[in-house]
Amino acid sequence: MAVFFDTHAHLDYPDYAADLPEIIARAKAAGISQIISIGTSLESSERAIRLAEKFPSIYAAVGWHPTEALAAPDDLRPALRELARHPKVVAIGETGLDYHHLPSAKPEFTADDDVRYKQKQANIFRQQMEVAAEFGLNCVIHQRTAWEDTIAQMKPFIGRTRGVFHCFGETVERMRQVFEIGSLVSFTGIVTFKNAQNVRAAVAEAPLGQFMLETDCPYLAPVPYRGKRCEPAYVKEISETVAQIKLCSVEDLSAATCKTAKEFFPKLA
Ligand SMILES: [Zn+2]
Repeated sequence: MAVFFDTHAHLDYPDYAADLPEIIARAKAAGISQIISIGTSLESSERAIRLAEKFPSIYAAVGWHPTEALAAPDDLRPALRELARHPKVVAIGETGLDYHHLPSAKPEFTADDDVRYKQKQANIFRQQMEVAAEFGLNCVIHQRTAWEDTIAQMKPFIGRTRGVFHCFGETVERMRQVFEIGSLVSFTGIVTFKNAQNVRAAVAEAPLGQFMLETDCPYLAPVPYRGKRCEPAYVKEISETVAQIKLCSVEDLSAATCKTAKEFFPKLA
C-alpha cells in the first residue's frame, strides 16, 4: 500500500474530541503514516503537542493563526520558543497574513481598526519566522487576499527559514513566485472539487519534489465526502486525484511527497 503523510490537520479541534483514536486507526489503515497537527494559538499548539505525545503517528506545528492575531500577546516569541523545543514539534505555524475579513466590514469598526489588525498580523508573522529561523524549522503559511505582503515579509528570511503555502489555490504564476523564494506548496481535497480547475492547473505544473499533500481537516473533505467532516484518511482520495493529474503512479507520488515532507520537516521521523 502506498504511504502518505497528512501535513496539515487540526486534530486538536473539538470536532475530534469524541473519536480521535478511531480517526487515527482509519488513517493508518488508509496508509497515512504521519499526521502533523497544526496549532492556531498557544493553547491550540499545546493541545497539538499533547496529541503528539499520546499518538506515535502525530507530530505538531506550533504557531498563531493570522485571523486570531488580535488575541495574541505583543511578543509571542518567548512562549513559542518553549513549545518549539519539543522533539515532536516539526514546524512553526500556522502563520501568515489574511486580509479576507477585515474588521471594518462590521459597523462598529473603522479603517483604523483594519490598520491595527494588519499590523498585528505582520508583527506576529515576523516573530514566528524569527523563532523558526532560531530553531532551524520551517513555517506553515496561511495566505488569503494578502499575496504581495506575504511574499514581501518572507523575502528577508530567505536562507534562514522556508514556508509551505498550505491549501494552495493561487495561479501558476504565483506558485512560481513561491518556488523562487525557496518555499513549497501543498494541496488539499479541493483538488477533487468540480469547480477547482485552477488548483488542478497548479498541480499539473508543480514539479514532484516541490509540493506536499494535506487535508486541512476538519475542513475541505475531498469528493466523495465533500461537505462532511474531513479526516486524515482522506489523503488517500487526494493522492489518487493528484496522481491522475501528474500522470504518475500513486507509488511514485508517495515516494516524492514523503521525501519532500521529510526534507521540509527535518524532525519528522
Ligand atoms: Zn489550517
